[in-house]
Amino acid sequence: MGRIIAIANQKGGVGKTTTSVNLSACLAYLGKKVLLVDIDPQGNASSGVGVNKGDVNQCIYDVLIDDVSVKDTILETKVENLHIVPATISLAGAEIELVSTISREVRLKKALQEVQADYDFIIIDCPPSLGLLTINSLTAADAIIIPVQCEFYALEGLSQLLSTIRLVQKHLNKTLAIDGVLLTMFDARTNLGIQVIEEVKKYFQDKVYKSIIPRNVRLSEAPSHGEPIIIYDPKSRGAEVYLELAKEVIRHG
Ligand code: ADP
Ligand code: MG
Repeated sequence: MGRIIAIANQKGGVGKTTTSVNLSACLAYLGKKVLLVDIDPQGNASSGVGVNKGDVNQCIYDVLIDDVSVKDTILETKVENLHIVPATISLAGAEIELVSTISREVRLKKALQEVQADYDFIIIDCPPSLGLLTINSLTAADAIIIPVQCEFYALEGLSQLLSTIRLVQKHLNKTLAIDGVLLTMFDARTNLGIQVIEEVKKYFQDKVYKSIIPRNVRLSEAPSHGEPIIIYDPKSRGAEVYLELAKEVIRHG
């Protein structure tokens, strides 16, 4: 059965989508069968792996709201072994529509059960909120990866995320684990970045991944080409470190 990992943090711009796309692609590059699930209405993970949204007939919205089989939404990508369930802007309405549906928190979990045996990893790119789309992701997941940006307010908001995780563990998903905390956009030229690393390590201890994602311009360029870094620039520092991260995640198995 594939391991389901949600990439979550209610803060925007911390590297959730960059991590979802590039961790998925690196796992696939290492020979794992991977399904990337885009559950953010902005659909950046979808375009990040080259999905042209105009060509999408059915997306994760139809799975969550209209009981469409997840199998009918899966698309192949340029990366061998990497498939995606795309999101389109229609998903923006789902947060509100879900409120009045039966078993609203477990819809994604149920949908993914149908394909879980077909993949080694299922990676979910969460939206920047703690609403029902993120709750669905945490309920479906075996583990969560929390990207934390190396900036001054790095730890701000994390207590809210941690209490949401505890609520999900108590009521919806007893076995949800924190796979790790991922430091992102590290700039070695500033003292601040180093201070943040120390602070986050003090708080999360051995939960912090050894791989620390540097600020790397190639990582920010790759999405506009619809390519994960491992294709766009496999020799870049960004590609190297996301590959290291993928190996760490596999070891956590
Ligand atoms: P989130 O999904 O948490 O909102 P993103 O992954 O979309 O965050 O990242 C926010 C912005 O920062 C994007 O423009 C992305 O290209 C850029 N970015 C993310 N990680 C890096 C990095 N390691 N180096 C440089 N730019 C990055
Ligand atoms: Mg995002």
